Amino acid sequence: MSKQIKYSIIIPMYNEEAVIQETYRRIKKVMSTTGDTYELIFVNDGSKDQSAEMIKDYSCWDETVRLIDFSRNFGHQIAVTAGMDYASGEAVVIIDADLQDPPELILQMIAKWKEGYEVVYAKRIKRSGETFFKKTSASLFYRVLRATTEIDIPVDTGDFRLMDRKVVEEMKRLPEKNRFVRGLVSWVGFRQTPVEYERDERLAGETKYPLKKMIKLSLDGIMSFSYKPLKLAGYLGMALSAFGFVYLLYVLYLAIFTHATSKGWPSLVGITLIFDGAVLIMLGVLGEYIGRIYDETKGRPLYIVRETQGLADSRIARRE
Ligand code: UDP
Ligand code: MG
Repeated sequence: MSKQIKYSIIIPMYNEEAVIQETYRRIKKVMSTTGDTYELIFVNDGSKDQSAEMIKDYSCWDETVRLIDFSRNFGHQIAVTAGMDYASGEAVVIIDADLQDPPELILQMIAKWKEGYEVVYAKRIKRSGETFFKKTSASLFYRVLRATTEIDIPVDTGDFRLMDRKVVEEMKRLPEKNRFVRGLVSWVGFRQTPVEYERDERLAGETKYPLKKMIKLSLDGIMSFSYKPLKLAGYLGMALSAFGFVYLLYVLYLAIFTHATSKGWPSLVGITLIFDGAVLIMLGVLGEYIGRIYDETKGRPLYIVRETQGLADSRIARRE
């Protein structure tokens, strides 16, 4: 194990027993063609099925297999982060466990890396086998993210990517809890380049990203890279005040110069509802940010590992 490892492949998994064997086989096949040393780091994110046991089995006869077993489900982004903390390769690749990201693309990423790029991200030019809702919501999200944030986060790009050791070391210095990994990688900088691919269907099983997790991920993406939602309150307030002022002038005009006395509390109810709604929405936005500040100040570790397999336990994973 003292040999320097060239490539680390990080595979986060949450209840992926239906696909994991095939994933292992396909990635293995691709990596063996590189002729270099590599390790496969499976991060078990609190699966309730046999995923972890299967990996443990593989690690009995395959010394490239490693397992980081979380004490519970901490979420995909945290699983990926743990993988980076433990990875020792010169280049580190993140790939989904469900074979939606074709492992064969890793070879193209490696080629780009050897050309001198420090981050090679996979850009989806087509997604097949996903629902209309998933595709449109994802596409919309990437565009909103692009419009609201100052840093350049590439659109239609997931976490499937290769990173140079330098990038991984910088990523390990970022302590934030509500992590949006692909945004952080953009933030870190370095020479980045895309490789394009068509996203396949999930091999088996169901998506582990229900709507709730999708919303959490999108909020993390937008809120950790942008203050714009907070500024919205200011703009909204100004627009409403301006409107109120003009309306007041009009009412005064009616009262002084005409005899049309306005009766109509229904309109008042309507206006009150709109204004109260706006205030509540902004309170919600404030709450989201304050919640995040609270998460950071608690200073809890990002994740808890039950056990590892194939990894040096003495490794100092993360500077908290
Ligand atoms: N995943 C995880 N923890 C979670 C949810 C998902 O580690 O809480 C893993 C999952 O096993 C898969 C990857 O993250 O390897 C992407 O999840 P999925 O394929 O379900 O998302 P989708 O492709 O539908 O967006
Ligand atoms: Mg998937």
